[in-house]
Amino acid sequence: MTMVVPHMTAGSGHPIGSAAPLRTGAEYLRSLDDGRAVFVDGERVKNVATHPAFAGAAQSCARLFDIAADPAMAERMTVTSASGEQTLRAYQIPRSHADLRAKRLASETWSASTYGLIGRTPDHVAGFFAGYAAVPEVFAAGGQHFADNVVSFYEELRDNHLWATYAIVPPQIDRSKPAHQQSDPTLYAGVVRETDAGIVISGAQQLATAGIYSDYLYLSCIHPLQAGDENYAIGVGIPMNAEGLRLYPRRPFASMASNTFDHPLSSRFDESDCFVVLDEVFVPWEKVFIYRNIEVCRNQWWKTPGHAYGNLQAQARYATKLRFMIGLAKMMNEITGNDGLPPVMIQMGEIAALVSIVETMLEAQELKATIDANGVVWPCKEALYAVMSLQSELNPRMIEIIRELTGAAMITMPSSIKDFESEVTAPDIERFMRSGTATARERAALLRMAWDFIGSEFGNRHQQYEKFYGGASFLVKQNMYRSFDFKRSTAMVNEALALGV
Ligand SMILES: Cc1cc2nc3c(=O)[nH]c(=O)nc-3n(C[C@H](O)[C@H](O)[C@H](O)COP(=O)(O)OP(=O)(O)OC[C@H]3O[C@@H](n4cnc5c(N)ncnc54)[C@H](O)[C@@H]3O)c2cc1C
Repeated sequence: MTMVVPHMTAGSGHPIGSAAPLRTGAEYLRSLDDGRAVFVDGERVKNVATHPAFAGAAQSCARLFDIAADPAMAERMTVTSASGEQTLRAYQIPRSHADLRAKRLASETWSASTYGLIGRTPDHVAGFFAGYAAVPEVFAAGGQHFADNVVSFYEELRDNHLWATYAIVPPQIDRSKPAHQQSDPTLYAGVVRETDAGIVISGAQQLATAGIYSDYLYLSCIHPLQAGDENYAIGVGIPMNAEGLRLYPRRPFASMASNTFDHPLSSRFDESDCFVVLDEVFVPWEKVFIYRNIEVCRNQWWKTPGHAYGNLQAQARYATKLRFMIGLAKMMNEITGNDGLPPVMIQMGEIAALVSIVETMLEAQELKATIDANGVVWPCKEALYAVMSLQSELNPRMIEIIRELTGAAMITMPSSIKDFESEVTAPDIERFMRSGTATARERAALLRMAWDFIGSEFGNRHQQYEKFYGGASFLVKQNMYRSFDFKRSTAMVNEALALGV
């Protein structure tokens, strides 16, 4: 067993109980070179910030920190204490409807900088920890020290402006059996032993989006667990460079992107999804928040506002992405001269209706938010799960309409930007691939972007992301079922029945 290498961050070393100066993008990029074990094509990546497959998105991530550190954005992106210390709004525990709205607007600002294409920006899991720190009693059910640990970890993340991501779903090895009945008890990530100083975890967890770009992994489980699965009912914070933690990203799309003209989105915004392997990873007790407790493991999602804060961010990000998507569709119609056709307007009207539903449901979550006995504001879960439940159907519908509207436009393109640079090919390309309103180069720039968004491997991964990032839709609909006020409806029916015949 080996100890975790202390994780150096931009803010480490500042006095306990005070916030470090806001982190800049350059400081963030430097912090990625911390020895984390990331593997691609059978080889260990030396530095995520400079590796060609990851550097483009690392720059986009760094920009998030620069936006937050910009003094002109202080009101939008941060909260300032009476003594003048700034922390990210992402970590704010909302105590009024205005606070909740301000958190959402900060998320929209971050997501606008990536066109909603980076889903797991730091504000996603920050929302969960703000929710946990708001209701630490849920963790205290396993022992007061676990509640103290979760609050301390929240403060560490907040005061150092850190980025945590999470892996909360076990691998799809054999879902017909519970965790403890898998052919090997260390297939799913779980406790293998404890010591006076902490616990040791081995096994795998399915997915940590943006794991390679984060400071910390929150390892827990949202899948239903049953008696016998106690070793997998945990919640722990693990630094990304912890010894024994190995990250296996799926194929990075930027490594297939030859240039930013032909691959404008996949070269910059591929947040990466990685399979997580834990090989005897040691976690000190102070980073353990849930320990072998199935009930607390379940309650963290539903009895704190964490899941709602994290997914309000996800919806703010999604609404931003849809705004960008409908902009692409509108400009493609304009460039082909189809924009004024009544059937096109009707189809665009359908997409616009769906985009508007997602956008206005953000406000519904805020307007119908409730305040608990401790003065903490909880987003309206009925509104949140309603829009999340529909997302896996709305998203393919919108993409399908855009495909319908564009015909072969995204396909009849030059093979690459080099066709514009060659004396042999440029004349034909410039002459015949233009539109009535745009040069061939302008047209190609727009259509390559649209293809990257919709048709490329990057675009297709996004469709899978929107379907599953919040869990499979049958589970999201169960959340909706639990949140909906059925009694109000059955009371109406009973009243009508009481009218008699
Ligand atoms: C691109 C992407 C990024 C993600 N990022 C993260 C991340 O950062 N962190 C994280 O923890 N998770 C993440 N997830 C989500 C997570 O890993 C799972 O994909 C999600 O929870 C769904 O679980 P699953 O993939 O195991 O699918 P399953 O649970 O196996 O479901 C797949 C399908 O099987 C059927 N099915 C299975 N069980 C049932 C049942 N009991 N009743 C009815 N139908 C059933 C349904 O059709 C369902 O849609 C991400 C997912 C994707 C696709």
